[in-house]
Amino acid sequence: MVFELTDEQKEVRRLCRDFAKKEITPFIEEREREGVFRRDVFEKMGKEGFFGCLFPPEYGGTGSGFLTLSIIMEEFSRASVETAICWNNQAVNVPMAIYLFGTEEQKRKYIPKLISAEMIGCFALTEPDAGSDNAGMQTRATSNKDGYVLNGSKMWATLGNVADLILVFAKTDPSAGAKGVSAFLVETKDLKGFEGRKIPSSIGTNIIPSADLVFDECQIPADALLGEENEGMKVALQTLQYGRVCVPARAVGIGQACLDHSIRYSQERLAFGKQIAEYQAIQHNIAEMSVLVEASRLMVQKAASLADQEEPFGKAASMAKYFAGEAVTEVSDLAMEVYGGYAFANEYPINRFLMISRVFRTGEGAPNIQRNLIAQDELGWKKIDRYFGKLNTTVKQ
Ligand SMILES: Cc1cc2nc3c(=O)[nH]c(=O)nc-3n(C[C@H](O)[C@H](O)[C@H](O)COP(=O)(O)OP(=O)(O)OC[C@H]3O[C@@H](n4cnc5c(N)ncnc54)[C@H](O)[C@@H]3O)c2cc1C
Repeated sequence: MVFELTDEQKEVRRLCRDFAKKEITPFIEEREREGVFRRDVFEKMGKEGFFGCLFPPEYGGTGSGFLTLSIIMEEFSRASVETAICWNNQAVNVPMAIYLFGTEEQKRKYIPKLISAEMIGCFALTEPDAGSDNAGMQTRATSNKDGYVLNGSKMWATLGNVADLILVFAKTDPSAGAKGVSAFLVETKDLKGFEGRKIPSSIGTNIIPSADLVFDECQIPADALLGEENEGMKVALQTLQYGRVCVPARAVGIGQACLDHSIRYSQERLAFGKQIAEYQAIQHNIAEMSVLVEASRLMVQKAASLADQEEPFGKAASMAKYFAGEAVTEVSDLAMEVYGGYAFANEYPINRFLMISRVFRTGEGAPNIQRNLIAQDELGWKKIDRYFGKLNTTVKQ
């Protein structure tokens, strides 16, 4: 397998760098201070087509595929922690769930608006008492003559406080465990009984727009149901497999940013009359970071290429997610060491990198969960790709 980027992919990378230089980098400090989600930047990204890689032109996408999307995600994560965190909901999880399970009407209504960022999407699976064990959720959807009534709460829902469309998972048959969950497309405009509140401080930065959501007797229409009733876990698990190709691409971007900053800082900082880069111990940190980032990148590219070729990619994605999550944690720790005491100063981004590296380890499947999946696959007990079906998400160039 050769991972040679095409001229078009190199051009996309250049466009991302130019966009980040103009729209993101100059405002990082101000936005970090304010801690407010900048919708206007997302809308500009949407206009540029950055969110549309996985969807065909009939739904407003570019069809350029997972490998191109992984390049875009890496570049934006490299540019800022803030943009790194919000990608999956807009470009993968929410539109992908609709693309895989939606009616033609739902696809035409929502996918173009999500990938142009006209609508902000949110994926609400995790609950205060149900994370890895998400089938243990308590949120209920009870059917009535007007559709369904939602009651319950969700936790850590990225962009949940600003979202226009929330993909909510709720129990429609509580006695049936995982087989009693359904998925709903919930529009937040004028939704009575709904509240999305930003979770105050996430470690190291207040820029991560995580929210807790409360649904109190929220009436939603019958056509909000996505897929079949009681097939919500299928919607969640199949969709998250696509997300798992993309989470580690963002970890690669953060790892690369740690490396970029450490290279620069180690050549500026003097100790005992020399640049610290001249000490072999610091050089070894740089080498270690470089190898871990490159190995993660190759694993992401393998998973993305398999997905683009419509081959089973779930195992490669779980491996990439696991490895890149561990690697970026190690890389950010090595960067902390290069920076010494200044790693803790907010004028440098290093402590934010350390914090977000932990998010990429945990979000969309904690390391133990990935290890469980990979081990069960290797032992021949449960193949990760057992439900793989052909999915025509990309347009052949
Ligand atoms: C910044 C951020 C953004 C997020 N965004 C979203 C979002 O947009 N939408 C959403 O739905 N969720 C989101 N999440 C939630 C995330 O997916 C969960 O945090 C994650 O799935 C883990 O769940 P938990 O936090 O409840 O941990 P738990 O499930 O309680 O796990 C705690 C520890 O126990 C371990 N563990 C659990 N079960 C097992 C087992 N069977 N074997 C071995 N070890 C086990 C885990 O590996 C972990 O180390 C986000 C989280 C964060 C921090």
